[in-house]
Amino acid sequence: MRSLAILLGACVAFVSGCSSPPPPFKHSTFAMGSTVEFTIEGIPEADARAAVDEAIEDLAYLDAALHAWHPGTLGRINSLLALGGKFTSSPLVLPLIEQTTQLSEQSGGLFNPALGELFALWGFESDDPPMGPPPSDADIARVLAGKPQMSDVRIHGIELESVNPHVKLDFGAYGQGYAADRIIERFKQRGIKNAIVNVSGDVRIIGQHEDRPWRIGIRNPRGEGVIASVLMRGDESLVTSGDYERYFLYQGKRYHHILDPRTGYPSRGVTSVTVIHPTAAVADAAATALMIAGVNDWQEVARRMGVKSVMLVDDQGRVHMNSSMAARVKFEIDPAPQVVIVDTPG
Ligand code: ADP
Ligand code: MG
Repeated sequence: MRSLAILLGACVAFVSGCSSPPPPFKHSTFAMGSTVEFTIEGIPEADARAAVDEAIEDLAYLDAALHAWHPGTLGRINSLLALGGKFTSSPLVLPLIEQTTQLSEQSGGLFNPALGELFALWGFESDDPPMGPPPSDADIARVLAGKPQMSDVRIHGIELESVNPHVKLDFGAYGQGYAADRIIERFKQRGIKNAIVNVSGDVRIIGQHEDRPWRIGIRNPRGEGVIASVLMRGDESLVTSGDYERYFLYQGKRYHHILDPRTGYPSRGVTSVTVIHPTAAVADAAATALMIAGVNDWQEVARRMGVKSVMLVDDQGRVHMNSSMAARVKFEIDPAPQVVIVDTPG
């Protein structure tokens, strides 16, 4: 869940100027704990409105199924996983479990949606803004000692079981990207060719704006507005994770919501990560993992997760990216930040 003040992990902007054909249909709503923005172009307004109404229904359904702490489908699954033994699960969650298990393994465990107990311990599983203080080292150590992993969850047909009672699923780092993908698939089925869906900074786009590509802004993690913008091509996603989305200050220190499974503490050294990838679900998981991987290890983790274009902003304001990202980024702040370009050999 992210509060309203901090929604623009990525903000949507048009390349330039105004247009003479009918303006894009735009609508924003609050769903999955956050602001969701829709932009649809090139179809009659009534059709765009119908598509958005359907997407809002889908989001409500996904929210009820995937919410990490409100009572619902995932809550029931978590209670039954903790008991051990097989039980029949809602089939809706099975593809999410399968894909997040694979992504978790590829990330070397840095992306670990089985760690819901840890996220709850820090107070990030709450509708209220987290306040601190941070949990005690003893409590963190106790939760980590349970070693919950996605590979502890076994799928038998439509039955589930966990071989570890400490598994508590929380798709907070993946569900919004997954939702953006599902909405765009629905839009495509309705014949929509040009659209943007932005679920709390997880942006998936198709097509373009008139005869030009959509341009998407990346929020400045330590300041107003956008740090850079990216021209989007056809069907792809741009996802940003950052330490500004949900955090509390305690005794002058910032404690944010992306937790390093190795330490149990918020990741350090990186203030935001932006990933471009065909699907928003993978980009979402990867952005979280790469926040934790940090400036030394991000390339290796990105390679294993199959993600090609990455930009990190470190806590000194320096930008680290690979050349495939650099080719697409235009800085929007003056002076432009110091940039470190790193490419993995091969
Ligand atoms: P945002 O898009 O809000 O910047 P993320 O997509 O990274 O953030 O999601 C953060 C949420 O994911 C947290 O609130 C928590 O529920 C969950 N989370 C935190 N750390 C991890 C982790 N290491 N692996 C998987 N999920 C995490
Ligand atoms: Mg994420």
